Amino acid sequence: MRIDSRTPIPLRASPRLTPVLAAVWIGLGWITSPAGSASAQEPPRTRLVLLGTGTPNADPERSGPATAVVVDGRAYLFDAGSGVVRRAAQAARDRQIPALLPPNLELVFRTHLHSDHTVGLPDLLLGPWVLGRREPLSVLGPRGTGRMMDGILAAWSADIGIRLDGLEPRGQNADAYRAVTREIGPGLAYEDDLVRVTALAVSHGSIEHAFGYRIEGPDRTIVISGDATPSSAIVDACDGCDILLHEVFSAERLATRPAEWRAYHTAFHTSTVQLADIANRARPGLLVSGRDLDVY
Ligand SMILES: [Zn+2]
Repeated sequence: MRIDSRTPIPLRASPRLTPVLAAVWIGLGWITSPAGSASAQEPPRTRLVLLGTGTPNADPERSGPATAVVVDGRAYLFDAGSGVVRRAAQAARDRQIPALLPPNLELVFRTHLHSDHTVGLPDLLLGPWVLGRREPLSVLGPRGTGRMMDGILAAWSADIGIRLDGLEPRGQNADAYRAVTREIGPGLAYEDDLVRVTALAVSHGSIEHAFGYRIEGPDRTIVISGDATPSSAIVDACDGCDILLHEVFSAERLATRPAEWRAYHTAFHTSTVQLADIANRARPGLLVSGRDLDVY
């Protein structure tokens, strides 16, 4: 059995025909009046689905950071926090988004290496494979992505071997446990017939390589900050975009935290006051944000 995650991903993916779906779901509810150019009669083709809005806090109401942009019938994931596959399955079931059914989860972009954004990667790699995904999982992200995926495959190699060589009917998807990775830098990261995805260099404390992303769909442009301090790259990439998904912590609650944690949050993240300034300059049609400081 050969386990290899270093097969390169082409910049341009081959087009696939997909059904048209509609609407936006953000965490606990749908946005019924979509931002941007899509008319009320014509539901948006490009939707933002928040699969997880949590932090390292073990909040039972919030899964780990994970976001989906769904265009027609294709899902583009950004980060894979704890619970990513189950929340995607929930959105598929409750919001009628078949692109988020586990076998259809084929592509994920990583913003950075923090564990709360990545602990769902083994689940995303192996769970949908067991459930019938036909293709390997494509993983694009900053330096270190390949090493992490190699480590995941090594850690679960015994399980993979048993599933391949045991009684489980694998049929046509025997190779789909693999991770096909590409380590990227700032700039155009991916393009297919539905979207263009541009990686944006952002500052996230002492993390050396952290990205936000600008996703240009057929009818909407969405910008995702990832974890970041205030950045002109995000403001410039949005510049009147339809949706800006930006991280934030409460400036008011920060004042209640110990000094060392105040220093950490200030160096790694964005306060509500700073986000207001970002929103005023970036002028998104819709600003989506959320975070908490209860423990972490
Ligand atoms: Zn982080």
